[in-house]
Amino acid sequence: MPNITALADKVRSGGRLDAAEALALYREAPTALLGRLAEEVRARKHPDGIVTYIIDRNVNYTNVCVAKCTFCAFYRPVGSAEGYVLGFDELFRKIDETIAVGGVQLLLQGGHNPDLPLTWYEDLFRAIKTRYPDFKLHALSPPEVIHLSRLSQLPVPEIIGRLIAAGLDSIPGGGAEILVDRVRRLLHCYGKASADEWLDVMRHAHCAGLRTTATMMYGTVETDEERIEHLLRLRALQDETGGFTAFITWSYQPDHTELAGAEATGIDYLRTLATARIVLDNFDNLQASWVTQGGKVGQLSLAYGANDMGSVMIEENVVRAAGASYCMDEAEIVRNIEDAGFVPRRRNMHYQILGEPIFRQRDVPRMLELATAREAGDTSVPEELAGYAARSRAGKQLRVLPH
Ligand code: SF4
Repeated sequence: MPNITALADKVRSGGRLDAAEALALYREAPTALLGRLAEEVRARKHPDGIVTYIIDRNVNYTNVCVAKCTFCAFYRPVGSAEGYVLGFDELFRKIDETIAVGGVQLLLQGGHNPDLPLTWYEDLFRAIKTRYPDFKLHALSPPEVIHLSRLSQLPVPEIIGRLIAAGLDSIPGGGAEILVDRVRRLLHCYGKASADEWLDVMRHAHCAGLRTTATMMYGTVETDEERIEHLLRLRALQDETGGFTAFITWSYQPDHTELAGAEATGIDYLRTLATARIVLDNFDNLQASWVTQGGKVGQLSLAYGANDMGSVMIEENVVRAAGASYCMDEAEIVRNIEDAGFVPRRRNMHYQILGEPIFRQRDVPRMLELATAREAGDTSVPEELAGYAARSRAGKQLRVLPH
């Protein structure tokens, strides 16, 4: 068992931890020491004391999904009366609202809906870019890209190339869960993407010039060793491509899921975050996940290695479906950053500073409640869907309905 004092010295002198050392630190180091080490690494990378955040909107364009991951409370099966697809006009309205509060991008993710062909995504991206040329699209996590590749029978690099040509700016790191196939099989998410397939989409995206994020959802069925293995696999790809802008981790949210179980504690979150900051020595930015952990643990994250408060949430559907529903608008995020002793700055998807808080520069509406993708009970089908061939039987029936 490696000696904790020796490991702390190694981290302080900028040394890189191997799997056994990272595991020992995560398991054995006192929480206060882990936090101090992570804070020292953060301060070395960000000596200016700036903590960033982005104003964007997390939109889930469809909840229909064939993947059926056991930890997911968000999806509905094909043909479900609760299934939805957002129309282009609805998405434009959401973008207008986002721009009104100073937002610069959409985080656009959704289920693996067999009734949405690649051309639907291309038309949507082009329509958004025509209307909002400067607005950014941080869209489609690796499993969605793989789903489109399988659906259209085209290789992943071609899908990425076509999406970039239509307006894709960056790929979010969702769907990584734990990048170990034993875990993925147990969570029923191996089929949507194996660990190698997830990493390969990111490799292709980085080679095509996109910057992306990386995530980890922990606290389901993985062992401590597998949590560390996940971090090491991300670190290895970052060594290879340098394409990751940031790492975000959050704990599994068990409410209304098939897997059920209990949620990991706040202390486990802080220890996991601090370990990630120390192990991921080639990542510049770590986000605090206040949407799942709450504002107070989110604020504490800044003392455990995080240098970014993530997104000013305007809308959230996925973790809310599983029981987490914390809400902070820009004023509240800024207050949390300043009260923790840091300097708040708005950023873009590449972590370039855009400026001081926007609510101090002009009047913006307070957003004290998170919006949802759709009002409950709204079963309307967007008009333009009729223009795309449906693949499922349920989808084909819907598309011949009179509008
Ligand atoms: S996590 Fe994503 S891929 Fe898995 S069931 Fe939910 S929506 Fe589908």
